[in-house]
Amino acid sequence: MNTAMTDAPILPILFHPAPILRAKARPVAEADGARVTELAARMLSTMYKAPGIGLAAPQVGEGLRLVVLDVAKEETPAPMVLVNPEIVAASTERAIREEGCLSLPGQYADVERPARVKVRYRALDGSRQEVEADDLLATCLQHEIDHLDGVMFTDHLSPLKRNMLIKKFLKEQKLKSREAM
Ligand SMILES: [Zn+2]
Repeated sequence: MNTAMTDAPILPILFHPAPILRAKARPVAEADGARVTELAARMLSTMYKAPGIGLAAPQVGEGLRLVVLDVAKEETPAPMVLVNPEIVAASTERAIREEGCLSLPGQYADVERPARVKVRYRALDGSRQEVEADDLLATCLQHEIDHLDGVMFTDHLSPLKRNMLIKKFLKEQKLKSREAM
């Protein structure tokens, strides 16, 4: 991937409760072509700038099955672009990891999910790809693919925990908008 991709102009990130975050995104079609390449580049810029390790198209207002992520721990970026990603296998073994979301900034909670997943997707050039993931990548893939189905990480929490977290988020947003006046 060329580094110019990450110099693309950033996009505004939508926060909860934007309705598109709750909608099912449509598959990317061949006809979407160059628009998707451009969108992926802008999503990567947006993700790095935030900063975050994953971003799904609905989070920037595009109802398309497109995800970008980079879970590299080193300084060298290792961006991944996944077109129409699909979880085709998940381990019965589960793992708990703390998650946050660029659409719910400042909020974190432990989420339990399958520890390992196999994901099929298309690269931007249309080639078929498959990745077997564990650890942080497994969590990130599941979190981002959830976004394509209108699912937020908070949906994996108990109703009590979920309501507390969302209330806290809305309260913090209210305070922020007041400070901005
Ligand atoms: Zn998220």
